[in-house]
Amino acid sequence: MLRLLGYLLNQGVVTSKDYCAPLEDGLGLPEFSDRACAGSQCNECRSVCPTGAITVDSGENGGEVHLDLGACIGCSMCVRSCPQETLVNSKKTAVARLSRDDLVISNVDRKVPLSLSRSTESKSLFYRSIACRVVSTGCSACDLEVAACGNSIFDMERFGIHVVASPRFADVLLVTGPVPKAMHDALKSCYEAMAEPRRVIAVGTCATSGGLHRGGYAEANGVDSLLPVDLYIPGCPPHPWSIIDGVKKVMDGRQA
Ligand code: SF4
Ligand code: SF4
Repeated sequence: MLRLLGYLLNQGVVTSKDYCAPLEDGLGLPEFSDRACAGSQCNECRSVCPTGAITVDSGENGGEVHLDLGACIGCSMCVRSCPQETLVNSKKTAVARLSRDDLVISNVDRKVPLSLSRSTESKSLFYRSIACRVVSTGCSACDLEVAACGNSIFDMERFGIHVVASPRFADVLLVTGPVPKAMHDALKSCYEAMAEPRRVIAVGTCATSGGLHRGGYAEANGVDSLLPVDLYIPGCPPHPWSIIDGVKKVMDGRQA
């Protein structure tokens, strides 16, 4: 609290001027450093990961690690357990991707391939204003971060992003949570009430993949098991900048 007050007093203008400002050390999702991985004889990261987001193989030039950010809950257990410091916490907040496959990162192929999705067909479709309807199907941590996007620090309305109460007025459906069976019909009704063109954004790891709930009795396997998803925002929960940047990517028709 004192830190926040100090920040506000020193800032003068409360609203953050740095778009997608970098995170402090140790807070971000995992990424790969330049250090080599020891391979499957180590396997520490894979064995501690609670969501099975990591695979490790031994290749000709050392260990090959694949990490699915769409299944990652950002616990940092893999970073802390890695003896080689191959895995580190990222400082990036612009983490949204148009394709589910692009959330799988690797220490071998650093270049994350970009792929087209429906949203790139609609370049500047929404011009400089986009209306979002939020549907919460989970623990509400992601909803708190969506709410934080509207506070005076992040101030998403300056970018033309608005939250609306009715799906009739919405361009985009922001879905949080893993979408358990009890929410399937409600979510589909909400989507069907939206006029075309409409877009769907999965906000957070649960909405992206089901997260820890995936494969359970509640059939909570993420949004794309039910609706076509145009953009995925990983994180548990995602940072407000990640959410704002993701919505802007859909609004601008930009590739993630
Ligand atoms: S930070 Fe993500 S990938 Fe690493 S152990 Fe936690 S859930 Fe698994
Ligand atoms: S990334 Fe680190 S913890 Fe994982 S297998 Fe390689 S050296 Fe071991």
